[in-house]
Parts: sequence; structure tokens; C-alpha cells
Amino acid sequence: MAQISFDAIPETTNEGNQQNGVDFFNLKNDGDEAIVRIMHDTTASFNIFTVHDNVTVGGKRRKVNCIRDPHEGTDRCPLCASGMGIVNRIFINMLQYTQNQQGQIEAKPVVWERSLSYATRLKNLIDEYGPLSECIFKIKRCGAAGSMDTTYEIFFCSPKVYRDDMYPRVDTAFSNYSALGTIILNKNYNDLMTFMQTGSFPSAPAQAESAQAPQQMSYQPKPETATVSAAPVAPAYQAPVSAPVPAAAPPMPAAPAPVAPPLDNPPWQQPGAPVANNPGRPSPRYY
Ligand SMILES: [Zn+2]
Repeated sequence: MAQISFDAIPETTNEGNQQNGVDFFNLKNDGDEAIVRIMHDTTASFNIFTVHDNVTVGGKRRKVNCIRDPHEGTDRCPLCASGMGIVNRIFINMLQYTQNQQGQIEAKPVVWERSLSYATRLKNLIDEYGPLSECIFKIKRCGAAGSMDTTYEIFFCSPKVYRDDMYPRVDTAFSNYSALGTIILNKNYNDLMTFMQTGSFPSAPAQAESAQAPQQMSYQPKPETATVSAAPVAPAYQAPVSAPVPAAAPPMPAAPAPVAPPLDNPPWQQPGAPVANNPGRPSPRYY
């Protein structure tokens, strides 16, 4: 199976670039940036799927949901049985903010497909900032178009500059959306068998009648597979919603005991931490 870069996915997997009103998130060129609100507040909301990618369906490369549990034998999934590889992907729901011709800021629902390492990145962001839908982030591409070494930096944006009234939160943006059944074809065993035998899926819309439970995975932190170097963070997020946002994100407390700090002594007020009321423009945090 040929490997394709993430950058090639939006152009190769779908007709058009939109599924159920949700666009693919895509930064095309080196240095491109986007202002976003990541619509995941806990790891339980992560959309992680095991898929067969690069399956040619109707002349297009598509992702197809793998219908077996990872612990089951490959005979439970006709695509696995045929030797097709599986990959784990996270599909990140975000609101992307763009300026229209009238100069108004518009929120557009987008989905960002990433490797599983981004689940750890998002978890680290949640540990640091709390529910992500309450924050604004800037995502910046580092890597030329087509480069296989492209990385993305995610910066926390100051709520003083990126105010909620200017960058509205749309809680219903993804209420009728799932990557499964749109970006990822959701087929049952019989459909997959038909596909292996004939090269195409039955024409009847069998997606909603899948007898197989969708193989959405729950997120399990695996520090050993993380691409970020941050140590596992033991304390749960405890800060109130209205907590002051530090001007510069403080370093992770290196406390030996994994005890959540008391609310009247959050990490950013500990001795040596940056002063929270720094009037200067905050410097972005790098991940
Ligand atoms: Zn499979």
C-alpha cells in the first residue's frame, strides 16, 4: 500500500472539500496560520478511529472504517483479512475564524485529520488550559507544500486580544456531524465482503444499517508514543473558568507528589512563577 502524506489527503479522498457542511482544515503553505477554537473539552470527546486508508473506491482513495476490534482476529474484517493495513487517526473538530469581505469575523466548522500523536498534544493542551472550547489557538504550518516533514505549532492566544465577542463559540457546529460516515466510509461485514469480491460496495445505502459497532476508540494516554516531550501531568485541571490567564504560560510544576494544587494556590501563583497581571502582550506558548 502506498503511503501518502497528510497534505495529499484532502485532495485525494473526497469529492469536493466538504462533508455535511464541515470543511477540511488545511494550511497549504509554509508559514500559513489559522485562528481556531478546538471543540474538545475532554479526552472522552476525541474522535479516534482505526481505519483502512487509501482504499480505492470508485476511482478515489477513501478511508474505510475497520470493523474488527484490535484484539480480534483479522478474519473479522474482510479488509484486514486481505492484508490491508490499518492506521489510527484522530479527527479534530474546530471552528476556524476567517474575515469576510465586510471585515467581519466568521466561524466555520472544520475537521483536522491528524496522526494519533495529536491526541497527546490535545491532552497536554487540556491539562494546561482546561476545556479547549473556551480558548482560542493559532495553528501555524512549518513546512513547504508537499513536504513530508511538515509540523504544526499550536499557540495559545490571549483572550484579551482574541475576545469571545469577536470570536464566537458555536456549540452546535458539530451536533449533526461525525467523521464516521462522511470522511470515513462506515461499512458492515457484508458490504466489505462484497467490496473485496467485486471491487465496489453495494449500491444500496447500507451505511446506517451497519451490524457492526463503530470502532471508535477511547483515548488512552500513551506517553511512550507521544511526539512531544512533556512529562505526564498528574494534577487534574482545577482552575475556575474565570481564572486569570497567565501572561506567559508557566512551566509545569515539578512537584514530586501528584497532588492537585489547591484552588487558592494555583501553579501560576507559586513562587518563581511569572506574574499573572503582566500588562505586556503575552508571548505565545509553543508546543
Ligand atoms: Zn480491518
